[in-house]
Amino acid sequence: MTLEMKILVTGGAGFIGSHLAESLLKDRHMVTIIDDLSTGRMENISGFAHNKNLSVYIDTILNENLMRKLISKSDFIYHLAAAVGVKYVIENPLRSIQANVRGAEIVLELADELSKRNHKKKVLLASTSEVYGKNKRIPFKEDDDRVMGPTTISRWSYSCAKALDEFFALAYYKEKGLPVIIVRLFNTCGPRQVGDYGMVIPRFIDQAISNKPVTVYSDGKQTRSFLYVGDAIGAMKLLSSHPKAIGEIFNIGSPERVTIKELAKRIINLVKSKSKIQHIPYEEVYRNHFEDMRHRLPDTNKIKNLTGFKPNYNLDDILKEMISERRTKCH
Ligand code: UDP
Repeated sequence: MTLEMKILVTGGAGFIGSHLAESLLKDRHMVTIIDDLSTGRMENISGFAHNKNLSVYIDTILNENLMRKLISKSDFIYHLAAAVGVKYVIENPLRSIQANVRGAEIVLELADELSKRNHKKKVLLASTSEVYGKNKRIPFKEDDDRVMGPTTISRWSYSCAKALDEFFALAYYKEKGLPVIIVRLFNTCGPRQVGDYGMVIPRFIDQAISNKPVTVYSDGKQTRSFLYVGDAIGAMKLLSSHPKAIGEIFNIGSPERVTIKELAKRIINLVKSKSKIQHIPYEEVYRNHFEDMRHRLPDTNKIKNLTGFKPNYNLDDILKEMISERRTKCH
């Protein structure tokens, strides 16, 4: 990206947003963060909050007047503010739909309205691998079908809300020429991530460090792949400056697949913990509001072919770094 752009990061005090904002500041951009601290934390930005090129607004992206002011001053918007985390979405279904649908609509609407004819504001929309739903065919390619469960299962509202955001973004691109890039983030992890909203790795690490049972849901044979947050940021930045990324959707994730039970064992070993694995049926955790996707794996050829992107961190590197962070923070 050209030097010294004015960049707005919505959700900039969140786990991924804070890493992105910090990295953009290192690249000498002028960065503005808006975050309502629903899942974000001031602690995430405390290490760089003093930076003179950073402005922070603690407010909701649904505050249209403020968003108008912030977007009018920005060249580029990374729209990361969203209600994420399976547990959060299930416990706050209304708030999560509103933030995810109306929030993206406000960002796109204002970016379009406040753009100049020959100087359009660019938007990178963070979407999610949840949009694929419970499609059984892995790895997922960007143009694969979405397979949804019933509307009585709150989990699927997140998938549908983010899919609607994607439709919105593509419509603004096709009809209005707004330059948008859509990224579907697969499981992303690293320092600053917390387990409060369901994320499995920080939960297992905290359980292992305190020698409590490591709670593997179901039989633990479900699989995921985990990308280091720094690699995810690298991928987003590569796409942001690539002209051929505009109007396109990209998976961002790791190809290294692991079962959740294997993940639990690896964490117990790396922590040298006395914890035992405890299997818990899904019904006990989420009552009847839940369906899991058994397997989730990205096909990352599209981003690789366009930008040469590949992850630098493998799962053990990530786990070691997260374990050392959690040890210093929590114990
Ligand atoms: N999981 C688990 N124990 C936990 C939290 C999560 O076994 O304490 C499982 C969860 O059922 C899923 C996987 O770990 O199969 C990843 O869960 P997470 O919520 O981190 O992300 P998801 O991929 O489901 O969005």
